[in-house]
Amino acid sequence: MSTGFDLLIRASRALICTEELANEELANEELAAAVGVRDGSVTAVMPVDHSATAGSEIELDSSVVLMPGLVDSHVHICEPGNTEWEGFASATRAAAAGGITTLVDMPLDSLPSTVSVAALETKREAARGQCHVDVGFWGGVIPGNLGELAPLRRAGVLGFKCFLADSGSEDFPPVTTGEMEEALGVLRDLDAPLLIHAESAEAAAAVGIAGGRSYADYLASRPRGIENLAVCQVIEAARRSGGRAHVVHLSSSDALPMIASARREGVALTAETCPHYLVLAAEEIADGATAFKCSPPVRERANRELLWGGLRDGTVDFVVSDHSPATAEMKAVPSGDFGAAWGGISSLQLGLPVIWTAARRRGFCIGDVARWMSTGPARLAGLRRKGRIAVGYDADFCVVAPDESFIVDEDDIRHRHRITPYAGRKLDGVVHETFLRGEPTSAGAPRGQLLSSQASTKHG
Ligand SMILES: [Zn+2]
Repeated sequence: MSTGFDLLIRASRALICTEELANEELANEELAAAVGVRDGSVTAVMPVDHSATAGSEIELDSSVVLMPGLVDSHVHICEPGNTEWEGFASATRAAAAGGITTLVDMPLDSLPSTVSVAALETKREAARGQCHVDVGFWGGVIPGNLGELAPLRRAGVLGFKCFLADSGSEDFPPVTTGEMEEALGVLRDLDAPLLIHAESAEAAAAVGIAGGRSYADYLASRPRGIENLAVCQVIEAARRSGGRAHVVHLSSSDALPMIASARREGVALTAETCPHYLVLAAEEIADGATAFKCSPPVRERANRELLWGGLRDGTVDFVVSDHSPATAEMKAVPSGDFGAAWGGISSLQLGLPVIWTAARRRGFCIGDVARWMSTGPARLAGLRRKGRIAVGYDADFCVVAPDESFIVDEDDIRHRHRITPYAGRKLDGVVHETFLRGEPTSAGAPRGQLLSSQASTKHG
């Protein structure tokens, strides 16, 4: 079919995943193409000079790249309950400004936490009509809610999240390693991944909590061993249960060889890291600079370079924001006390330029960024219409100028709160437009949909 498109984008540079290229390594080849869209889906990928016609036609020159819309599977939206930290309208507006077309919301930091079907419905009710991009939900695994996992999966959560150490949220307590393994067994039968905050509660308790303005003291209070031990426990639980385990926000590069060897042995294990672990460095964080506080913490420069090596060899599957917003008061901005400050970094809108700027210096191409920030997260979340430009996928695109640069100005940030460790940085990669199911998100009205798992329910 070559005519009758709603939209036709002729791009000198498009990241296309053709059927022949459907294996992950080769996904997102850069080529000139005409992408035809009908009813919000990509229905044809043709040579750029194809004679097809459409209701609306856009021509993109070689200064911009047509990428698949980004998928960020690690976002704390906080509404309802803590909407003053962040909400669906502000988070999704910031996402669209940053080239993201799909978010998956974490099950904690809102009230209630997403640990039952009733709580999921409350979240959806709060989100409905407010979202500028598509939004899916992770469910939570906490002590005592194993019976809720199958109903939550049937109700459409894309997978589940648990903590092995204190989450910072009283109504989202951590599970023991035994409870994690039990949950992995239940989720294996529901064909859902378990995302794990891999810091060990026992190891953390032995070190204690550091207060004060010194970043070095804060870093010393969250040593790599806390993560290393927990990653070991995740690997063995996944091996024994046969469930799919995913390590969120990996920060300790020590864990990379363990993850790689477990995968070689066939353990169903994936891992993500975040822009702050790949771009920031402990040596450069000033005392009192609590905008940089997160847990696990930003570590040394040498650790950061090893994480890039993990991305290069595929041990780290992808990159997501872990956007964890807070008010300036919560970030303890006046006192600069790392003990008192909220542990979380806001970067949703800036992830693409932050990563691209650092990646290109290390010899990566924009197709690598699409694999890390779109294809990979979509695959974890089981979103079969997201993360690629290919026939049958949603027409979600990001038009980015990779060689254009800008200075991060807090006035341009659309998160509810503008505090970010990237303020004042010069970054490459300006997002010119974001398309959600074939229409520009800059058009205004919120058109985002609430996504549900399309997983088979044959297990229950
Ligand atoms: Zn998080």
